[in-house]
Amino acid sequence: MTTPSMQALKAASAAASEYLRTVEARRVAPEPDALAMMAQLTQPLGEDPTDPDEVVRALHAYGSPATVASAGGRFFGLIVGGTLPAALGARVLASAWDQVVFNDATSPVGCALERCAGQWVVDLLGLPPQSHVSFVTGATMGNFTCLAAARQRLLARAGYDVTERGVWDAPRLRVVASDEIHVTVLKALTLLGWGTTTIERIPTDDQGRVIADQMPVLDPQTIVCLQAGNVNSGSFDPFEEVCRQARAAGAWVHVDGAFGLWAAASPARRTLTAGLDQADSWVVDGHKWLNTPYDCGLAIVRDPQPLHDAMATQAPYLKTGATVAPKDMGPEFSRSARGVEVWAALRSLGRRGVADLVESSCSHANTLAQGLRALGYEVVNDVVLNQVVARIGTVDDHTRIAQAAQESGECWFGQTTWRGQSAIRLSVAGWSTSEHDIQRTLASIEQVTKDVLSTS
Ligand SMILES: *Cc1c(COP(=O)(O)O)cnc(C)c1O
Repeated sequence: MTTPSMQALKAASAAASEYLRTVEARRVAPEPDALAMMAQLTQPLGEDPTDPDEVVRALHAYGSPATVASAGGRFFGLIVGGTLPAALGARVLASAWDQVVFNDATSPVGCALERCAGQWVVDLLGLPPQSHVSFVTGATMGNFTCLAAARQRLLARAGYDVTERGVWDAPRLRVVASDEIHVTVLKALTLLGWGTTTIERIPTDDQGRVIADQMPVLDPQTIVCLQAGNVNSGSFDPFEEVCRQARAAGAWVHVDGAFGLWAAASPARRTLTAGLDQADSWVVDGHKWLNTPYDCGLAIVRDPQPLHDAMATQAPYLKTGATVAPKDMGPEFSRSARGVEVWAALRSLGRRGVADLVESSCSHANTLAQGLRALGYEVVNDVVLNQVVARIGTVDDHTRIAQAAQESGECWFGQTTWRGQSAIRLSVAGWSTSEHDIQRTLASIEQVTKDVLSTS
C-alpha cells in the first residue's frame, strides 16, 4: 500500500534529484520571470486540502526556479557551502524520524549521534578532549551560547549567580574584542546585556588579525573575543599569544570560527590555528564549510559546567557522562536532530575527506586570486584560506561588477569594504565547486569587468 507520506517522499525525491542534476546548468541567481512565478505559491489559502505529492510538485515547479543555486559550484557570496550527499540523505531520513533531541528518552539515536559527532569534531579540531559540543542553529546562536557560559562563569567567580539575580545588579564584566569582530558576536553580546559602545576594541593589522601587544590589560572579569577566519580576508588571530595573556590574567577567551575553525582539521593549514586549544569556548558552523544542510552550528565549551548552569531548565546540577540532556546544554528546548547531519557528513568524508574539502576550497581560492591578478585586479588579502578580496576600480565599479556577475547567472559574489576601501570578495566553500567552475567564473568576471570598466 502506498501511504500519503510515501507519495510525498517519492515526489520530493524525484524533484530533488532533478534539481540537483540540473543545478550546474542553472543560472546561479534566478531570473525575474522565475521570481514572478512564485506568485503561484503565495495565493490566499484555499478551503480545500491538496494532496501531499501535489504540494511537493508545486514547490518544485514554482519554487525550484526561484532558488539561488548556492548548492551548485559557482556561488561565492557570503560564506555558504552546499550539502554533501550523505548529509542530504541523513536530513531526509532524520525528517522521517522527526526526533526531538530533548534528552535520551525522547531521542536515543539523536542524542547518541550528536555525542559521537561532537567528539569527532573536538578531535578533528584538536580541542581539549573533555569539551562539550552543543548543536545550535548557527554561529550566531553559537556565539550567544558560549558567551552566556562565559558570563555565567565569570560572574559566579565573583560570587554572583546571574541566573537567580539577573544582569542589572551584576558586577561589571568587560568584553575585549577584535576591531574586526563579526557582527553576530556583537549581536550575541547585546542580547546578553552588553552595549556595543561598552566593548573594548583591539586594533588589527593589514590582514585583520588582532595585534597582540596592543591588547588592553586583562583581568578575571574579562571576556576576550577572537576570530578564526576573518569574514573578508580569512585570517586568524594570534591565539597562542593572546591566550597566554588571558590565562595569566584569568580571563575567558572565546573564538568565533564559523568557517575558519575547519582549517584545524587540515594538516596543511593547522599552523594557522596554533594555540587555538588554549581558548575556553569556540564556535564553528556545520552549514557553511562542512557542507551540511542549513541550519547547523556547534557551540563548544572547554568546561560544560557554566554552560549547564546558564541553560538548564531543571535543578542546576550536571549529570555526568552520556546522560546530560541537550535541552540543558543549549538555548533551545525542542529542536531537530541537526547533529545527525554532521555525523553523516563526517562519516562520509573521514578525516582525509575533511582535510581534502578544506584544501580543495583553498586551492580554488588561490586559482581565483591568480586569475583575478591576470585580469588586472589587485588581490588585497593574503590568500591563506578560502577567501579572496580584490580591487580594480571605484566603489561604483565594484558594485556594478558584482551586480553584473549576479545578473549574468554565471556566478555569484558580492562587494565589500576592506580596510576602508571597496573591493569584490569571493569565498569558496561548496564541496561541489570544480576547476571547471573556477575557470567559468573567471571567464565571466573577465567579461563583466571589461563591460563595467569600459563604461565607467
Ligand atoms: C557566518 C559567520 C557568522 C554567523 O554565522 P551564522 O551561521 O550565519 O549564524 C559568525 N562569524 C563568522 C566569522 C561568520 O563567517
